[in-house]
Amino acid sequence: MTYCGRCGEELTAGSHEDCRRALALEPPRYCATCRRRMVVQVHPMGWSARCSVHGELADRV
Ligand SMILES: [Zn+2]
Ligand SMILES: [Zn+2]
Repeated sequence: MTYCGRCGEELTAGSHEDCRRALALEPPRYCATCRRRMVVQVHPMGWSARCSVHGELADRV
């Protein structure tokens, strides 16, 4: 099961087109694997988001 990085809902539930668009510009808030809220840091060079379980997700995926 994969969760939307922006709204935290299951990716299979409804359309996440707006989310996808937003995620092109901003870091994800939720871990795609466990739906925990991630700690997001924005740098001038990009961003990093850290899940306490799954570690760090850096920059654009
Ligand atoms: Zn979404
Ligand atoms: Zn996680």
